[in-house]
Parts: sequence; structure tokens; C-alpha cells
Amino acid sequence: MRTFEFVRPENPAAAIATAAKAKTAQQGADVRFVAGGTTLIDLMKLNVETPARLIDINRLPLDKVEAMPDGGLKIGATVRNSDLAHHPTVQRDYAVLSQALLSGATAQLRNMATTAGNLLQRTRCMYFRDTAMPCNKREPGTGCPAITGSNRTLAILGTSEHCIATNPSDMCVAMAALEATIHVQGAKGSRAIPFGDFHLLPGSTPNRETSLEPGDLITHVTLPRPRAGSKQVYLKLRDRASYEFALASAAVVITIAGGKVAQARIALGGVGTKPWRSPEAEAALVGKSADAANFRKAAEAAMRNAKPQSENGFKIELAKRCLAHALQMATTA
Ligand SMILES: Cc1cc2nc3c(=O)[nH]c(=O)nc-3n(C[C@H](O)[C@H](O)[C@H](O)COP(=O)(O)OP(=O)(O)OC[C@H]3O[C@@H](n4cnc5c(N)ncnc54)[C@H](O)[C@@H]3O)c2cc1C
Ligand code: SF4
Repeated sequence: MRTFEFVRPENPAAAIATAAKAKTAQQGADVRFVAGGTTLIDLMKLNVETPARLIDINRLPLDKVEAMPDGGLKIGATVRNSDLAHHPTVQRDYAVLSQALLSGATAQLRNMATTAGNLLQRTRCMYFRDTAMPCNKREPGTGCPAITGSNRTLAILGTSEHCIATNPSDMCVAMAALEATIHVQGAKGSRAIPFGDFHLLPGSTPNRETSLEPGDLITHVTLPRPRAGSKQVYLKLRDRASYEFALASAAVVITIAGGKVAQARIALGGVGTKPWRSPEAEAALVGKSADAANFRKAAEAAMRNAKPQSENGFKIELAKRCLAHALQMATTA
């Protein structure tokens, strides 16, 4: 691990001013915020991340979960994943988020991991984490060995010829289905980013993963008022029952009226280069009877554009079954 300077700013403005001096907020940033450290410090030990300066944001007042006047929920950037998962409002009104958080990592990691850090966790692609290997995401222009190499766990949706890395987050899949908004304070002021616009597709610049600019501090995430009568499920399929990333997962927020689907919000994990909202599955469900045949049709629609690699073709059927089963679980709960 390279040597670095560690600073503890007293307030968000000081943190942002320091971070704004960085050349980029993406891969290779020379200044990084550190929250729980469970992604960043890991990658620094591997020399995948080599910031010269770390800004500890744990003392900033960003650790509250608060009800909003419009009935929504405000989640501070440094709220720990375990505190969020066990928050009574989250368990009652946003169960899909609680389930997704509790399916991730281990209790010890969840006690450290934060909301903003989880939004920015990096892919588990083995080539990205190994500096002896080329990788377009880590070192633009060096190539993508995963396309002809080990790609069993990698993405089938949103890939490009430059990168097929999966976004590994569970929390983000639930937040995509809940239509969260990410709030950022930066050198040029504050802005609110709809969840679907936050993570970027790899395209020809897989080193650029989010819409963040140097100095941008995520201050909080908001969830809209819960949908009355909605049923919610997060289902995660993986190689072992705990301490493992998703091969395929599904977040379902669905409302049934008179036996028919009135509203559906669907997102998938483990299969996309970003947390994967599926408008195709949603459109296939709305107005239809809530039954197994229609759940399967929605799953087929979600996977229509899937592009398998040499080792991960099995994910297409796995993701379909995952979504169909999650819909069944939600509507029979
Ligand atoms: C062994 C292991 C298993 C895991 N299993 C799972 C799993 O099954 N499912 C899952 O979803 N996740 C899993 N994770 C990932 C874990 O959820 C993330 O590491 C964690 O959420 C990151 O949060 P953090 O606060 O520790 O982030 P940090 O490591 O502190 O930061 C991560 C990144 O976010 C940036 N950052 C942090 N806060 C802010 C902010 N407020 N504004 C702007 N930038 C910020 C940092 O600069 C850094 O680039 C696993 C991790 C490990 C180590
Ligand atoms: S899939 Fe992406 S992260 Fe993995 S080796 Fe290719 S470019 Fe790197």
C-alpha cells in the first residue's frame, strides 16, 4: 500500500474544498473520501486505488435517518448498512431495502459499510483487482481479459466491448426499484441525481462509473413516500447462502388491485453493469393478472437484450427464474 495523507475535516464544506482539488472523482482519483473503508482500504492494499489523500467523513453530521414532510425518507450518507436495515421505518415501509441490505456481506461488514460507500462499491471482477493483469476499467486502453477469460460472475446486460464487469451491490438494486434520489454537494453547489442516472454504462470509458465530479460529496439519499399497499421482496441467488455476491437478484415493488397488477417497479442485480432497472418487465406486468404465466413473461422481457459471455450464459435462465419467483413471493406474501 502506498503512503497517503489522512485528513479529518470539521464540516462538509471543508471536505468538499479538499476533494475538489482532485483531477477526477473516478478511477485513479488522487483524493478520496473514506467512510467505512470496506471497499476503499481493500483496494488500496491491492494498489488498485492509490490516493495521495484520504478525507475521513465519519465525523460529518450525515448519519441520520429522518422522515420527510412529504412522507418520504432521508438517509444520511454515513448511515451504516446495519442501522438502515434494522430501522423500523425501513422494515415497515421499504422492506425490499432492508432485505437487500441484510443479504449483503456479513454482520461485521454491514456494521462498517455506509449508504454512500455502498453506492460507490467497485466491481469484483478478478482482473480489476489484480494489478498484474490488463483492465480497461483500472487502466484505460489496456484491454479486457475477462471477455475471453474468466467471466462466470460477470454481466449479461449493459456490457460493451470494453468492459463486462458486474455492479455487485445489493442495496443499489433495492434503491433502483424504490426510485431513490441521490443528493450531492459539490464545488458548484448541490444537486439531486435520480438513481437511474447515477451509475454509468461502461461504453468506451469503463473507468468512469458514476456522474460524480471532483469534490462531490454524497450527503444523503431520499426515498419517495411508500406506495400504499405495495408488496416488496428482494431475492438473491448466489453460490453459497451467506458472505457471497449475487449471481442474480431481483427487487420487486408491486401493487395488486382486483387480481391485476396496478403498479410494478422491478430491478435486477448480479446481471448488469449497473444496478438494472427493468422497464420491460414493468410494462409486461401492469394491467395483467398476477399469475405465474405473466410473471414468466415479465422475466422473459427483462432478459430480452441479455448478451451472454463464454461462461455466464446460465445467468439468463437463472435471472428469469429469480424474478419470476420474487414476483410469486411478493404476491403471495
Ligand atoms: C468481503 C466482502 C463481502 C461483501 N459482500 C457484499 C455483498 O454481498 N453485497 C453487497 O452489496 N456488498 C458487499 N460488499 C461490499 C460492501 O457493501 C461495501 O464495501 C460497502 O458498502 C462500502 O461502504 P464503505 O462505507 O465501507 O465505503 P468506503 O470503502 O469507505 O468507500 C467506498 C467508495 O465510496 C466513496 N465514498 C464514501 N462515502 C462517500 C460520500 N459520502 N461521498 C462521495 N464518495 C464517498 C469513497 O471515496 C470510495 O471511493 C462486500 C465487501 C466485502 C469486503
Ligand atoms: S470486465 Fe471490466 S473490470 Fe473486468 S477486466 Fe474487463 S475491463 Fe476490467
